[in-house]
Parts: sequence; C-alpha cells; structure tokens
Amino acid sequence: MKPAAFDYHAPGDADEAVALLAELGDEARPIAGGQSLMPMLALRLALPEHLVDLGRAEGLRGIEERGDSVWIGATTTQRTIERSAAVARAVPLLARATPLIGHFQIRNRGTLGGSLAHADAAAEYPAVAVALDARFETLSPRGARTVPATEFSTGVYSTDLEPDELLTGAVFPVWSGRCGFAIEEFTRRSGDFAVAGAAVAVELDAGSCVSRCGIGLFGLGSTPLRATAAEAAATGSPSGDVTPEDVGRTAMAELESVPADLHASAGYRRHIGAAVVARAWHRAVQEAAHA
Ligand SMILES: Cc1cc2nc3c(=O)[nH]c(=O)nc-3n(C[C@H](O)[C@H](O)[C@H](O)COP(=O)(O)OP(=O)(O)OC[C@H]3O[C@@H](n4cnc5c(N)ncnc54)[C@H](O)[C@@H]3O)c2cc1C
Repeated sequence: MKPAAFDYHAPGDADEAVALLAELGDEARPIAGGQSLMPMLALRLALPEHLVDLGRAEGLRGIEERGDSVWIGATTTQRTIERSAAVARAVPLLARATPLIGHFQIRNRGTLGGSLAHADAAAEYPAVAVALDARFETLSPRGARTVPATEFSTGVYSTDLEPDELLTGAVFPVWSGRCGFAIEEFTRRSGDFAVAGAAVAVELDAGSCVSRCGIGLFGLGSTPLRATAAEAAATGSPSGDVTPEDVGRTAMAELESVPADLHASAGYRRHIGAAVVARAWHRAVQEAAHA
C-alpha cells in the first residue's frame, strides 16, 4: 500500500518546526528517519495531513561532550552514534546498544530522537536512557523543558510530548570511576526487536561494593522499565555477594504484569527476562571490577 496524500514541510530550524506543528495542529506529525513512521503511513496506521521533516532543521543534530555529560541531538542518526568515538568513550552503554537496533540500513536513517519519541517498549535506546538517568530536552511554543527519561514514556507508544512539542536532544550523564556496562537481549532473529532485554550500568567503590547501579528493562512492559527493587537490593552490598541470578529474579518479581504475544507467553518472557538481566549484570560487574 502507498501512504495517503500529505503536505510536506521542511523547516530550517527547531523553532520553525515547532511553529509549524503549532499552526498545523493535530493533523501534523514530525518525521525524522522515517524508519517507524513510513511503515505506519504505508499501512495507513497513521494518516497525517502534514509531515514536518526534521532532517534539515538546524540545532537538532550532533554529539557534544559537556563535562560530566554528553548531549546528543534528536536527529543524530543511530549510525553516527554507533561510530562516535566520544559516545564509545563517555557513554559505552549507548554505544553497545546501537548495533542491536535493526540492521545498519535502518540505523543509517533512524535517529535517536525518533526512537525515543516512537517509544516502542521493546526498543533499546529508551531502556538505556532509563538505566543511565538520562534527561530529555524538548521545545514547544511554550518554551523549552527537560524531562527525566524515567518520566518520558507514559504508555504503549506514548510519551509526555504534546502534539506541538519536539524532542530536541538527550543528555546522558557520564558514569565515571569503577564502572561497567552491558546490554543483553533475546531476539528470534538478528535485527528483530527484542523479546526481552536488559541494559545495566554498575559502579563499584574502592572496596568493590556496589555504590550505584541502573537496570533498564525493555520488551517486558508497556514502557521501558527500571528495576528499582533489584537496584536497591544490590546497592551497598559487596559485588561478590550479589549473585546475577538473584538480580534477575528480583527484577522479574517486581513486575506486576509482563506482556504476552505470539513471540512469547508472559511466563516465558519472565524466564528470559531474568536470564538477560543476570547476564548483563554479570558482564557489567566483571567490567567494573577490572576498570
Ligand atoms: C525492520 C526494522 C527493524 C527495527 N528494529 C529495531 C530494533 O531492533 N530496535 C529499535 O529500537 N528500533 C528498531 N527499529 C526502529 C528504528 O530504530 C527507528 O529508527 C526508530 O524507531 C524511529 O526513528 P526514526 O528516526 O526513523 O523516526 P521516525 O520513524 O521518523 O518517527 C517515529 C515517531 O517519532 C516521532 N518523532 C521523530 N522524531 C521526533 C522528534 N525529534 N520529536 C518528536 N517526535 C519525533 C514521529 O512523529 C513518529 O511518531 C526497526 C525498524 C525497522 C524498519
């Protein structure tokens, strides 16, 4: 099928894009890489009368190291992130998550902001952002605001963004010190969305106790989730006393419900979820111990 007819707009910067979205109202949608939106248009699951293409909008692209954080513009492609030495050095969890997104052809066009705004609960980036305590920057006719990653996804494919509001970028804190990072997922085929996945960041103190950790889950709920009970149980304990299996079990025990679909029953998903959390925890702690 072909998309229904729409008017195409190519604003020159973020302010112009936001003004267009406000003027055109509910019938307008921003488009970035088109890797999620174009299939929805082709299947007529979305029927916007206006597409506001962010591809040429100034001020939304780039990777900047800013002291203890890294800012990444919303329209920065996933391939750029994958190849960035700065991201590999300062936000290794994001660098390691990126090759797991689809295939390189998708990452050539797909953007950070598109992935975050699309808010697929099985996507890697939202879970990484949650695990690392990232902050999202937005712009609307009412001004700019910052939203913690943990508060951004509000339900299945829905976010805190207003229809006339753009995601302009994300700020990832740099976890320095004795830190380790790992992402694990289970997919039916390489490049598929994950049936279940976990992104883990661990910081150890000089005595090898867990001083801080973040566990982001994907594919295990209607939004990306943070395994706060598992994090609390591990924090403050000697890393050798925290078994990966316990972390996985605790992370699954705190989930009230887990989705079931044609790929996995809820029970099987919990089983896989516990395994990916345990594996990611193990690898992250090993890396931190040798940092
Ligand atoms: C075959 C295939 C496999 C894939 N596998 C994976 C995978 O394993 N993991 C994964 O995470 N993703 C996967 N994807 C999705 C891919 O990562 C997309 O790139 C991503 O979900 C959307 O990014 P985009 O830039 O293409 O956004 P678009 O498709 O252009 O937009 C997606 C949505 O976000 C909105 N939007 C875009 N940018 C902004 C912004 N700056 N502010 C506000 N709203 C905005 C749009 O209006 C639209 O609603 C896959 C896609 C395909 C086709």
